[in-house]
Amino acid sequence: MRDLFAGLGLDAGRAPLAEPADPYAALGMGRAVFFDADHFGRDQWLAGDPFGELVDARTGRQGDAAPDAAALRRFLDAAPLPPQDRTALARLADGSTDYLAGMPAAERAAYLRSTRYASFLRDKAGIGLAGQRFLRSRSNDAFALDADGISVADAIGIGLPAGAGMPAPVPDPRLGKSPASRLWFPDGNASLARLLVQKLIPGVAKLARPTDIINAPFDYGRLDQDGAAVRLRLEATAIAVDPDGPITRVTYGWRGNLHRIEARHVVLAGWNMMVPYLMPSLPAAQRDTLRAEVKAPLIYTKVALDHWRAFAALKTRRIHAPAMAYTDLWLEPPAGSTPGDPAVLHMLYVPTVPDSGMSARERFRAGRALLLGTPFSELERGIRTQLDRMLGQGGFAAKDVIRAITVNRWAHGYSYRPDTLAGEDSAAWTSPAGVGNVSLAGSDSAGSPSLTAAIAQGRRAVDRLPG
Ligand SMILES: Cc1cc2nc3c(=O)[nH]c(=O)nc-3n(C[C@H](O)[C@H](O)[C@H](O)COP(=O)(O)OP(=O)(O)OC[C@H]3O[C@@H](n4cnc5c(N)ncnc54)[C@H](O)[C@@H]3O)c2cc1C
Repeated sequence: MRDLFAGLGLDAGRAPLAEPADPYAALGMGRAVFFDADHFGRDQWLAGDPFGELVDARTGRQGDAAPDAAALRRFLDAAPLPPQDRTALARLADGSTDYLAGMPAAERAAYLRSTRYASFLRDKAGIGLAGQRFLRSRSNDAFALDADGISVADAIGIGLPAGAGMPAPVPDPRLGKSPASRLWFPDGNASLARLLVQKLIPGVAKLARPTDIINAPFDYGRLDQDGAAVRLRLEATAIAVDPDGPITRVTYGWRGNLHRIEARHVVLAGWNMMVPYLMPSLPAAQRDTLRAEVKAPLIYTKVALDHWRAFAALKTRRIHAPAMAYTDLWLEPPAGSTPGDPAVLHMLYVPTVPDSGMSARERFRAGRALLLGTPFSELERGIRTQLDRMLGQGGFAAKDVIRAITVNRWAHGYSYRPDTLAGEDSAAWTSPAGVGNVSLAGSDSAGSPSLTAAIAQGRRAVDRLPG
């Protein structure tokens, strides 16, 4: 990765010259939890999020100290939770109870892989419905699944508490979220894609520095020129890939017609679950594996705010709303240093179909259907209503402060990870690498949603091609 980035003129390992000033921290803005009336009996804003701090501290995330027991107890006592749930949650956070005491090691390991975290909370930790709802969404960001959709082992992996006698939290490397990453682009990974194209087809954009790519005009006319060493044909959709000895025929649709090319080497790096339809000649076992790689749906919403005065008034930069549509919200680094300056709010919504008992694959399909059936007008109304409800007491009014909203409705989002709850073996899982002179690549092949995984798979795909 580092070599590839260096070739593009980017240094992934370089620390910024100076840490940017953090006006949120300077104003003492921390976390908060919002309990909604539909699930907890009343709308309640509560400053602090000791469970969030605990989870981050357990995975060693920078800057997060584990909350002390008194702070946790104060938080729970103020929360709209029944007394028995407060006690059970405090005991869970305390970490000294072995809820599986007496269970032999091998049986324990199998239990952790095959039991839903929500079931563990209910059956072993004695946490009632309200308490389960409070912990429901802590895994949404990592897995696009709620506590009822992940195993206890996966919950522990991302730092969720499960008592004593449990393995140490070790996040699955497939999750791919690197806290050390320092490369951010205003337009996301599109900048990297354009830098790669500029490298392959020089002259497409004129750049003094790689970071100029964000605003540089892109000459699309140069992408597909006769005689060029590299040609890139946009809007060409492959519909059939037929290996035939040393050559492979690829049929694709372009500008209303079907075209066919013959290639010595082919790399398929779209979505793996489509590959069996493109290439029915693949062995049946490979087709079955690929077809089962169902991606998880999720929404990233960005809200441009004229100012962040309400957040400053509520002393909050990060909100967890465990049972609302948008479960995790945080202010991105601000454009200016005072609450009167503009800022962008990040909001995460995962349609997880909570408490359904469905498999991850079924949840992803159901969640995707829900998203695709929801018009943007409804999504916008939901965003404005949730923000008004949560932040109104700080003086927030969506109609006055929201300048723009971008909804990234990511129907096919995170790549599929093996689901140990469905009996899939996470350690032994691999995705087919290809057949003959056709290689498969893309993030699905790594079972990871990150760009780094996708790039590594590109390398693997090229390396396995015959000369
Ligand atoms: C909103 C958002 C935010 C993200 N943020 C981050 C982040 O901060 N960090 C990070 O590491 N990752 C992030 N990602 C994930 C990252 O973008 C993906 O992991 C990466 O793009 C996956 O690369 P890929 O090559 O596997 O697939 P893609 O980038 O999806 O590329 C697949 C390509 O194949 C094409 N294609 C599919 N089928 C066909 C066909 N039949 N014929 C021709 N072409 C076809 C598609 O049009 C597409 O261009 C984010 C993704 C999104 C959507």
